[in-house]
Amino acid sequence: MNSHIVTLNAGSSSIKFALFQRKENEVSMLASGLAEMTGRDRHIEAHDAAGATLQEDRWSQSDGSSFHDEALRRILSWRGRALPGAEISAVGHRVVHGGVHYDAPVLVAGEVLDRLRALVPLAPLHQPHNIDGIVAARNAWPQARQVACFDTAFHRNHPFVNDVFALPRRFYAEGVRRYGFHGLSYEYIARRLAQISPAHAAGRVVVAHLGNGASMCAMKNGRSVASSMGLTALDGLPMGTRCGQLDPGVVLYLMQEKKLGAGEISDLLYKESGLKGLSGLSHDMRELEASDLPEAAQAIDYFIFRIRRELGGLAAVLQGLDAVVFCGGIGENSRLVRERALEGMEWLGVELDHDANRANAEIISSANSRVRAFVIPTDEEQMIARHTFDLAGG
Ligand code: ADP
Repeated sequence: MNSHIVTLNAGSSSIKFALFQRKENEVSMLASGLAEMTGRDRHIEAHDAAGATLQEDRWSQSDGSSFHDEALRRILSWRGRALPGAEISAVGHRVVHGGVHYDAPVLVAGEVLDRLRALVPLAPLHQPHNIDGIVAARNAWPQARQVACFDTAFHRNHPFVNDVFALPRRFYAEGVRRYGFHGLSYEYIARRLAQISPAHAAGRVVVAHLGNGASMCAMKNGRSVASSMGLTALDGLPMGTRCGQLDPGVVLYLMQEKKLGAGEISDLLYKESGLKGLSGLSHDMRELEASDLPEAAQAIDYFIFRIRRELGGLAAVLQGLDAVVFCGGIGENSRLVRERALEGMEWLGVELDHDANRANAEIISSANSRVRAFVIPTDEEQMIARHTFDLAGG
């Protein structure tokens, strides 16, 4: 029997959604879409697997209803048009933070939702929308089971030294830890790499997930052993609008000398920093690459510098390197970023094949390169769908 599930992936200014079916053990996407807000403009579109448009709609910010409420309402009513009569057995949700409790996806029942609410302060941009998605989907399809798939889960068993901050012990006990994020993407990449090149997947691999959010992860035999993000999704690499690694003294300076409150500092670090803050132009790598502004070039320089630093650090943690993987919107598409990230890395065993890199090929290292470099499109939705079918589907 065919079984259908919906996946919801709610970010701060967009919601991705998709409809999947499983036949025997094959999971396939039937339709997918995106609801997005840019400025006052709100936009939703959905396509079937062949790319034909199923729905396209615009609306503008009006009455009291938020973007997320209205987008969810439209997404939940869209499903009927995509596949009339299909029974939805489960809804899989990307949930950014699973705290210390969850090292695997979980059925949302009992105290789960309360635990997820308690984690809102650790992921204020994403967690509330993830929870709203669960509540809205439960109301729309009371018969469907809800599955929470966590961005932190993949890293939960990394070693203590990568889990801890050097603060008094009591903070660790109450959950002030390095969690690491983008776990669904890393898990997908680990599985894909095992299909593409099992020998590399079994070895020492650094994955760079470079999108609007960006992080890097060191894996040994497909398991996370270290990553660049910490308690929240602010640490590590600079991102579209997030600062990345920061001396905590900067936060003290902002409080003591600039008299900024917690909300203002949060906005500054999450929404005004990173590529956008440094360039003064845009959070978007395509715009920065196309710009002649020296500040745009410096923002890219800093992004590359931090990727290279992280690559060296993670390779040291792994005691060597067998493969590097690029994924995410920038990792999959920016020839410039990949080229500059790997330039002069022969000492580490990586030799770039410039033509392959320019062609966005799957393998972008030269035939002589001791370390193999891959470009692998990530697919968090596919991972959510697999977990959801495994836990609740059909
Ligand atoms: P999110 O983290 O929101 O899922 P994506 O993974 O879609 O983000 O990545 C978005 C980033 O990818 C943007 O900075 C965008 O400019 C960049 N990007 C997409 N295509 C290209 C390209 N051809 N060249 C350079 N950067 C690109």
